[in-house]
Amino acid sequence: MRNAIASEKMRADDTRSQEISKPVQSVATHSVQSLIVEVWVPLPFRTPLSYLYVAADGPADGLADARPQRGARVVVSVNNRRLVGIVDSIAPVTAQLACSKLRPVEMVLDAIPLLAEQTLDLMLWTARYYCSAAGELLQLALPPALRTSSRLQQSREWLSVHYWQLRESLPSCGATNLAQGRKQRELLGHLQAAPARRSAQKNLRELGFGKAQFAALESAGVIEAVTIDELALQPEALSADPPDASDVNSAGHALNAEQQTAVDEIVGSDGKFAAFLLDGLTGSGKTEVYLAALDRLIATGRQALILVPEISLTPQLTARFEQRFPGLVCVYHSGITDKQRLLAWNDIRLKKKPIVVGTRSAIFLSFTQLALVVVDEEHDSSFKQQDNCRFNARDLAVVRASNQGCPVVLGSATPSLESLQNAESGRYRLLRLRHRTAAFARPQIELVNIRSRKLTGGLSDPASRAILQALQARHQVLVFLNRRGYAPALFCQSCGWIAGCSRCDSRLTLHRHDASLRCHHCDLRLRLPTVCPECTSTSLVPLGSGTEHAEEALQALVGDDVPVVRVDRDTIGSTTALHDKLELVKAGEPCVLLGTQMLAKGHDFPDLTLAVIMDADGALFSGDLRASERAMQLLTQVCGRVGRGEHAGRVLVQTRLPSHPLITQLLAQDYRQFALNELDLRRQLSMPPFSSMAVIRAEAASEVHLQQGMALLASQLKTVITQENLGDGITVHGPFPAVLARKKNRHHGLLWLIASKRATLRSLITGLMNQPASPDRPRSRALQLPGRTGRNQPFSWSLDIDPYETL
Ligand SMILES: [Zn+2]
Ligand SMILES: [Zn+2]
Repeated sequence: MRNAIASEKMRADDTRSQEISKPVQSVATHSVQSLIVEVWVPLPFRTPLSYLYVAADGPADGLADARPQRGARVVVSVNNRRLVGIVDSIAPVTAQLACSKLRPVEMVLDAIPLLAEQTLDLMLWTARYYCSAAGELLQLALPPALRTSSRLQQSREWLSVHYWQLRESLPSCGATNLAQGRKQRELLGHLQAAPARRSAQKNLRELGFGKAQFAALESAGVIEAVTIDELALQPEALSADPPDASDVNSAGHALNAEQQTAVDEIVGSDGKFAAFLLDGLTGSGKTEVYLAALDRLIATGRQALILVPEISLTPQLTARFEQRFPGLVCVYHSGITDKQRLLAWNDIRLKKKPIVVGTRSAIFLSFTQLALVVVDEEHDSSFKQQDNCRFNARDLAVVRASNQGCPVVLGSATPSLESLQNAESGRYRLLRLRHRTAAFARPQIELVNIRSRKLTGGLSDPASRAILQALQARHQVLVFLNRRGYAPALFCQSCGWIAGCSRCDSRLTLHRHDASLRCHHCDLRLRLPTVCPECTSTSLVPLGSGTEHAEEALQALVGDDVPVVRVDRDTIGSTTALHDKLELVKAGEPCVLLGTQMLAKGHDFPDLTLAVIMDADGALFSGDLRASERAMQLLTQVCGRVGRGEHAGRVLVQTRLPSHPLITQLLAQDYRQFALNELDLRRQLSMPPFSSMAVIRAEAASEVHLQQGMALLASQLKTVITQENLGDGITVHGPFPAVLARKKNRHHGLLWLIASKRATLRSLITGLMNQPASPDRPRSRALQLPGRTGRNQPFSWSLDIDPYETL
């Protein structure tokens, strides 16, 4: 999304929800009162569902009598399923007849809204922009423990804090006289000094107070035990006791002139929206810019969000924030337990921890006063969600900053073409860091033409020699191979049979450690055959090399004394496993680090001096719109991993195509020039970012169903284009088969919609959504999103607005 949405502020056209969400005036009365409550449930609906709320007659009784409020959770039933939904709006009942058919709200779960108004608005905007189900998207705003009604009790227990508190009315002889002994007087003194004259029982035990003191003071009528349900606290409730931002470790972080300029510019936009592209070479100190800007912007009551592609892979970055802002940083991602996630979510909501480092979905946390948003490695594909609501968190970061009036910084050594174009056009302000910090030199990149060379486990002789040399000098080596498994194919030398997946149009990958053949597209697993199923010959051979094979070859090359650390999806079962492996590398002993693109995501290993890219060509052939951009970013990032310490870095690139333009540009180490050329090409072809794009992905049970369904879609698109008079501004490409035309026994096809203006694309999509599902069957369930009527249907389709992958 280009950044079309950067300027496209929250649409004012959503006046509907604004009108209805006005607070109901008469909530304080205790007479019977009926309200119509619009609720978003986690199902693929286009609109919220209406329910009837009848307030209990009688005095208010805590939560049981809480009225539904916008942003709070309620339990409702849909087709006899009890679901937790989020209230969108509340309105008094006007026509009794209309609501006689409405089902009741079964339970109101929250006494206060859990989603801040701004967060809810952003999410509804997001659902509209990406044409997806708001009810499903809203789930992302809450930690898993708050999403289902079966865990109500547990989540409440997790968020209950037990305190000892000084009683308001003390016995007439005074508290001090009642405290016996030093320990009790200490406890008393501690509570008298504490905010709200109470302290968490857990903290008191940690301070060395025990049962004896608590019991004595309690029976003397001085203190009492209280339990506070934090889920019922408003964010403002704790602001009397804000975290202390004064002990920030800002000393000893000198900035160079470029960094200083960047920080000054960012801080200069304090309190108003401005988008910055921080285009900084690897090693030029982008993180230091984020930290220094935060240092100056974070203050009592203000929050900051740092979005990163992948937290488990980059513990160093999180550690740097925690070190600089001790006690103020909260990490939020899906790799932590449900309880940790709930507590972190609550800490953020109540502003106990003002700085949040998180992955994609952290963009939907309930911030109320953002001072800064940072998107690190903004080019990374993992900011784009690839299922259900296909939002791009990087783009939403710009929208969120714009809504909340604060600066946003997109940082990368290899910026996306979208962001670069926004900087070129002046929509974003460009901040460049062209100087590497002292401990970082530009690596030397050399090509190894492997067209007619003998390879061992995918390695050429020059690469093997370089690896041994580096290890001899007691340095570390990175070997990059973006293909996991042992071999990408199994081949029969007698009859030419190649093991293929029965459910997809793809080959099966050989995994040797468990003697299996696996499909990387549908996860089919078969036992490795001993004879060819076609001709019963035993001469089955692996073709090509994956990381498993390369690991074997590297271990044989370097000997048993040097560890070969393989990092790919098969070896990294948990984040701890990865952490342990990376600790080994960080210890600095000679070793070989072998892995897939997981390794290219911003690690910092000071002792790496050599990188070997085993198969650069693998990245060069794809018809995808972003194929070149992605390949260049990946290879440049791999090159950026070496030479971070005191020794110069060297990169060997194995290729069969040494004169391929992308390889020569990689050699020139000028990503910016590459990107500008690529932008020129996109401009000539009127492709994004010079146009707006959406991909329709369709799947069907059979080839025939696919063709019929896509033909109908294409004709409906034509109808809308004619009716709405969109002709000139829009091109429909396709239908054509997906790259993997058959996957999991479903047939896949595509349509590209490319428009010169975003508004034209929007009109086309809105028109399409209102077309009937099939000619003989008008859309009966108007609430349901088209294309999402079940994946097991003969034909279904989905929309991807601003796609990252286009094939
Ligand atoms: Zn055979
Ligand atoms: Zn498969």
